[in-house]
Amino acid sequence: MTINFKEEVLKHKEDLLSDLFELLKVRSILGTDVTEETPVGSGPKEALELFLSFGERDGYATKLVDNIAGHIEIGKGDDLFGILGHVDVVPVTESEWITPPFSPTIRDGKIYARGVLDDKGPTLAAYYAVKLLDKLGVDWKKRIRVIIGSDEETAFRCVKAYFAKEEQPSIGFTPDAMFPLIYGEKAHANFRYSLKFKENNKQSAYTLTKLNAGLVKNMVPSEAIAIVEGDNSKLAELFNEYVASKNITGKIENNKVTVYGKAAHGSTPHLGENAATKLAEFLLTLDLDTNGHNYVKFIVDNIANDPFGEKLALKYNDDEMGDATYNYGIFSYESDKALVETDSRYPAKFNLIEKLEKLEIENVEVEVYSNKEAHYVPKDDELVTTLWQAYKNHTGDEINEPRVIGGGTYARCLKKGVAFGVLLPGREDTMHQANEYMFIDDLLLSVAIFAESIYNLCCK
Ligand SMILES: [Zn+2]
Repeated sequence: MTINFKEEVLKHKEDLLSDLFELLKVRSILGTDVTEETPVGSGPKEALELFLSFGERDGYATKLVDNIAGHIEIGKGDDLFGILGHVDVVPVTESEWITPPFSPTIRDGKIYARGVLDDKGPTLAAYYAVKLLDKLGVDWKKRIRVIIGSDEETAFRCVKAYFAKEEQPSIGFTPDAMFPLIYGEKAHANFRYSLKFKENNKQSAYTLTKLNAGLVKNMVPSEAIAIVEGDNSKLAELFNEYVASKNITGKIENNKVTVYGKAAHGSTPHLGENAATKLAEFLLTLDLDTNGHNYVKFIVDNIANDPFGEKLALKYNDDEMGDATYNYGIFSYESDKALVETDSRYPAKFNLIEKLEKLEIENVEVEVYSNKEAHYVPKDDELVTTLWQAYKNHTGDEINEPRVIGGGTYARCLKKGVAFGVLLPGREDTMHQANEYMFIDDLLLSVAIFAESIYNLCCK
């Protein structure tokens, strides 16, 4: 059967937009009105039920699971193909919106509303792709479930509850990211370096009494503060000289030294400038007490300016998943406790944990306290090649390739799944922002790409 996907999509345009507007009007933010009927509040539940009602109206089997997730099932066969999306949205600051976030509005070919891009628009586009094929009377070789969660933005309780009771699809995708597609997510470990405190056995000009930087492990700290006891005026002189010679920014007030860097996400630490390691570099030039000195020396010798872990021989790279990265997100030094919290994203084939267990660093111990395995589908797998080909057929984009990221996507919840769409390369990413929008043309294009993908994977 030959299908002109773009033409077929246009036949459903009015219905799609009307359903989408209804869905976007639901204020599906995590709520405080939590009951057994509404486990994450009444907003997410209302959006979930509304989505399922579209499936019922169109003649398909639907199921609500634990009031927090659900599915619409179409097609036939033993094998199950899954499409996973979500209808909950992140909170809004109304004053920052040009038109109200839950009153969808069209301006210049774009729909403005909270959730239009993340993830109500994409999830509905995927549903319409399956519906479009079914209404054409395709010969299904698989069952397809459009699985809808209502707690993706907070704690993934929707998918946990859903997959505790329901069948795991053999393959699938989640339209909750960008095109072309993300076939891999690196493994993710959190660990900490702790200083072994020693007897202070020397006379020093300065004592480090406090150092603090960073609030979360998964961000590069953009500000670091140290409290240093000693001669304040001499300290100011040394600091100002240092700042002038090193091209860094900072300030000093009495015994409080502040250094600034540049924030970046923890999965891409090389894009930021770590304020704490810069501060440590200055502190190492001072005549410091034993423990203060050991702490800043550890930082400078082993982790400063080293997002790829070369100094500790933790560098790793492969063609499949790229580089292992190390973000030093939280620094804390007090009189009896000093640590550096680290967030690493690393390829599946790298045995980071074993390497860390064998690390020997003077005055410092390493403790790994969380580790999540990598999630990926091989780049040459039929799932990846088929989805990518459908994308290329409809966009003509031969430049952007499927990729691996350090962050996590909803695809992690599928045993064998990738993130596929819908933000197009070059488009502004307004997910989680004020005035979130999506081009109507992009929405329709997504339906066509999804329909061709699903047709090739489920009807042949
Ligand atoms: Zn999302």
